[in-house]
Amino acid sequence: MSFLKSCLNFLPSNTNYICLVAVLVLYGFSLQQTIANDSTKVKSTNKLYKSYYQDFIKHIEFKQFDQASKDLVKISRLDTLVPDEIAYFIGYVQVNTGKYTQGKESLEKYISLVSDTGKYADYANFYIHLADCNIKGHYYELNPCENCQSTGYSKIECSNCKGKGQELCNKCFGRGVIKSKDSYGEIFIPCARCSGLGYYQCSKCYGSKKENAKCGICEGIGKIKVKKECNTLPKSPSSK
Ligand SMILES: [Zn+2]
Ligand SMILES: [Zn+2]
Ligand SMILES: [Zn+2]
Repeated sequence: MSFLKSCLNFLPSNTNYICLVAVLVLYGFSLQQTIANDSTKVKSTNKLYKSYYQDFIKHIEFKQFDQASKDLVKISRLDTLVPDEIAYFIGYVQVNTGKYTQGKESLEKYISLVSDTGKYADYANFYIHLADCNIKGHYYELNPCENCQSTGYSKIECSNCKGKGQELCNKCFGRGVIKSKDSYGEIFIPCARCSGLGYYQCSKCYGSKKENAKCGICEGIGKIKVKKECNTLPKSPSSK
């Protein structure tokens, strides 16, 4: 802006537009520079992240957990998006260094992020069980709920239509016609709401007569916790 001011003072007033053009060109140039700088910064952050992450994985593979923790500190300083797997690796390191409670928390966080389809889900579940055995002396396995075929809900009678699949028309109250008046006096016209039927399809179950209710056995989770003794825990985690 100071450039604009001195420019305006220097030039005669009828050439003011020259100053404006100059300001716009300079502004455009500096904007371009900023964008270029930002993308260079992103590129170098990505490069750093890649190398820290590779180090982290390597240190975990060789069970060099102190080094792995240092790699994590470096990654956290980059303030970049990290993959869900990191939660698994943190839990893995914690369980393997005897921090069972924290380790279990990280592994459960990983499972909640990726569900059972995650790349390390089987491993995470194994280490959760291992942590439990060290904390409580037993562990829980999640088995599919047979009551709801693992869906977490079961079908019950529709509460809106009481299992009829239809609702009484709230315009004609079941008569199918509506009283109206014209020049000849009172007439009855078919109810538009229910097309003269007196009822229409239930707005809750859409005629299926059923609605979903949380499964009373698994409480909507689709799985049932089964208590297991630690001697049933496999020696090593299974993998997909
Ligand atoms: Zn009606
Ligand atoms: Zn219904
Ligand atoms: Zn169930």
